[in-house]
Amino acid sequence: MNDELKDPRKQYYTEGFSQENETIAKSPALQQDMMPVPDCGEESYQGKQRLTGRRALITGGDSGIGRAVAIAYAREGADVAFQYLPGEEADAEAVQQLIEAEGRKVVAIAGDLRELGVASRLVNETVEALGGLDLLVLNAAQQFATETLADLTMKQVNDTFQVNIISMYEALKAAESHLEAGSAVITTTSVQATDPSASLLDYAATKGAISNFTVGMAKYFAKKGVRVNAVAPGPIWTPLQLDDGKLPGDLETFGQDELLERAGQPVELAPVYVFLASEEASYVTGQIYGVTGGSETDL
Ligand code: NAD
Ligand code: MG
Repeated sequence: MNDELKDPRKQYYTEGFSQENETIAKSPALQQDMMPVPDCGEESYQGKQRLTGRRALITGGDSGIGRAVAIAYAREGADVAFQYLPGEEADAEAVQQLIEAEGRKVVAIAGDLRELGVASRLVNETVEALGGLDLLVLNAAQQFATETLADLTMKQVNDTFQVNIISMYEALKAAESHLEAGSAVITTTSVQATDPSASLLDYAATKGAISNFTVGMAKYFAKKGVRVNAVAPGPIWTPLQLDDGKLPGDLETFGQDELLERAGQPVELAPVYVFLASEEASYVTGQIYGVTGGSETDL
């Protein structure tokens, strides 16, 4: 146990980010190419058996926040299935190895959520591989920034809604019969839900919808003893920010405007996803948990 007090402004990586990250980013962006590589708790996360025997499905589990959740859940004793976008095999394989090292079952499933039918396939394959489903983390999303409304194509609007929110309906419809009382669903929304950026008009609207969906689903699933909550991250250093996730030039100061004056790392989100999944959150449902570095919009 480390009993030293740590200043939250000085933990993890505190600088702005090199614009060079944009030039090395492939499509889809891989976290293994990022400078610095995001911290998803690979070295640091220590489990306390808070999810022993649980069977989890995490969408977007190859990188960023989803990877941090996958590592944490495995170290808390859960078996983990996770989805990744084709093209992200290198990141997915790294997660698979980390979970295998914990002695937990792991299943990596490729799937593009722009296609109808993929979300239910993920649920079905998870149930088959793990023997059931107790924890559903709906975390995958696409984010492409545009300077002008003319740049925002209707194909992008449709795809962003399909991946970020419509697939969540399909996943929950497929999961409903498997989620027993005591199970938990966690969605990933954003500070963009209530404070949209002009460059993220499609993405931000899906996040508003996800927050609303989460509260509505909490009401529906309460009658079944299933809790449903959301996590709303602020600026977190993940591949989402590359591959056109931000407008050119916006990387260097990423996170510096928050109260804690830095971007967050994915590992800093993991404890909240663990808490919301665990029995410690037995009286928590229909809530949106902010992990934002103190984004002013959350105050
Ligand atoms: P990330 O890029 O590491 O994770 C997003 C994942 O979504 C990808 O790894 C990929 O597996 C998946 N994905 C993307 N397009 C897909 C598609 N078409 N089909 C299927 N899967 C697809 O980035 P992240 O920041 O860890 O994102 C995780 C969640 O956190 C997202 O919901 C994102 O909106 C949310 N979020 C992130 C931030 C941030 O600053 N990074 C802030 C607020 C909310
Ligand atoms: Mg990824």
